[in-house]
Amino acid sequence: MLLLNPGPVTLSERVRKSLLQTDLCHREPEFFDLQDEARHRLIAAYELDPAKWSAVLMTGSGTAAVESMIAGLVPEGGRLLVVENGVYGDRIAQIAQQYGIEHEVAKYEWMQAPDIDAIIAKLDAGTFTNVAIIHHETTTGRLNALDQLSRACAQRGIGLLVDAVSSFGAEAIDFDGGGVTAIAATANKCLHGVPGAAFVIARRDALSRAASRTYYLGIARLAKLQNARNTPFTPSVHAYYALVEALREFEDEGGWRARHARYAALAEQVRAGLAKLGIESALPAEESSVVLRAYRLPAGVTYETLHDALKAKGFVIYAGQGGLSKELFRISTMGAVTSADMDTLLSSVAELIR
Ligand SMILES: *Cc1c(COP(=O)(O)O)cnc(C)c1O
Repeated sequence: MLLLNPGPVTLSERVRKSLLQTDLCHREPEFFDLQDEARHRLIAAYELDPAKWSAVLMTGSGTAAVESMIAGLVPEGGRLLVVENGVYGDRIAQIAQQYGIEHEVAKYEWMQAPDIDAIIAKLDAGTFTNVAIIHHETTTGRLNALDQLSRACAQRGIGLLVDAVSSFGAEAIDFDGGGVTAIAATANKCLHGVPGAAFVIARRDALSRAASRTYYLGIARLAKLQNARNTPFTPSVHAYYALVEALREFEDEGGWRARHARYAALAEQVRAGLAKLGIESALPAEESSVVLRAYRLPAGVTYETLHDALKAKGFVIYAGQGGLSKELFRISTMGAVTSADMDTLLSSVAELIR
């Protein structure tokens, strides 16, 4: 089965085999070597300065990392502006609500781009310490532009917290603009690892001022212990094996730029192939990520029909979320999938709608 859903991804044989390594106690030096390698490679993935940035690992899915980032890196008494144009922006607002973090939501239609000028005007009018935004809003495949917002945050001393769960490893991220305080991501999307390991990459100065609102996901303690080759709890050891092997493979294949190019070619192949069959993209290609694209269901074909027909051919696609479930379907090109696989996918769709 080939997974064209937005994570978990189809594994390469190299990563799959890494799961079969020797059993490991998480209190032994061999585990801390693994943890150190994962942390170093995550920082190196975007050529970040390890004196300024630190990668903090945790056991959980991508949401664990987002929750850890929001709960820890909005300081005590801080105020958060949440940019929402999809399911994942809404999730951050719910996390802020859950932890009693004072926040406001800048809400946009799910098919729309956020109005960055209006958001900057809100920053000037308010007393926000932080802004949270989704980089690639997987709900629609939209890539939210970060650069202008990041610069505006930097100029105002506001910390930008980015959900990069479905962009880290495949899209450019403006770490140098000065506004980004932290990003949250996971092993099992663009990095091609398995579910169970997630991480936050944060500025060291922000980590040193982190709030302590949550126990298990407390980012300051995780960082402090990991820096001392330690861990507070039992991590998903096998997921760490896979993450490290996936990061080695990522480097061997040319890093995020090569992955971006590979995804872009696959996404364009799918877009052009579906367009020939009369299936329209939900967003213009230049507003979409290369990681996942949303398409309009063809007239007279329900998502269930399309999904089941493609599953019978060995492909798992993904439904639209919430109110978009009747209109859209989504195809991700993450993971060990090839151009030949996409040809088979397209001919299977052609067969169905003919
Ligand atoms: C996948 C995803 C998440 C996290 O989902 P999990 O199921 O917790 O891994 C968060 N944000 C975005 C943008 C995502 O695509």
